[in-house]
Amino acid sequence: MSAVLVLNADCGPLHRVSLRHAIRMLFRQVAVVHEAQQDNRIGVYPVPTVVRLVSYVVTRWRRGRGPAWSRAGVLVRDGRRCAYCGEAASTIDHVLPRSRGGRNEWLNTVAACGRCNNRKRDRTPAEARMPLRVKPFAPVWTASLA
Ligand SMILES: [Zn+2]
Repeated sequence: MSAVLVLNADCGPLHRVSLRHAIRMLFRQVAVVHEAQQDNRIGVYPVPTVVRLVSYVVTRWRRGRGPAWSRAGVLVRDGRRCAYCGEAASTIDHVLPRSRGGRNEWLNTVAACGRCNNRKRDRTPAEARMPLRVKPFAPVWTASLA
């Protein structure tokens, strides 16, 4: 069963769902067919390869229960800005260093530029005299997709 790409109402790609899920979205009229296979139908619907949501869903990070921690997710959450100096960030920093028991968790990790990351090393922000410009938070993906 091939996966179907789901587009937001503004045609921005969101994610992939199973064909069965896509058909359910069409049936519930939350999505319309955007692109379909030629000469292939499921009931009244052409077999979709891309569906588009009827109404726009806002996807943004918020506090609360949320997705599993990841390095990429920390960078997205923090807008790829260093939590210490505000410059472009490509690394993540453990607020409480891993060498001292700091875990890979949303509340213990922030985006950081390489320079600040090197400068902070195995110290806490207080020890390094590098105050956090933003408080880390646990994000939640608010998009409720059908
Ligand atoms: Zn920095």
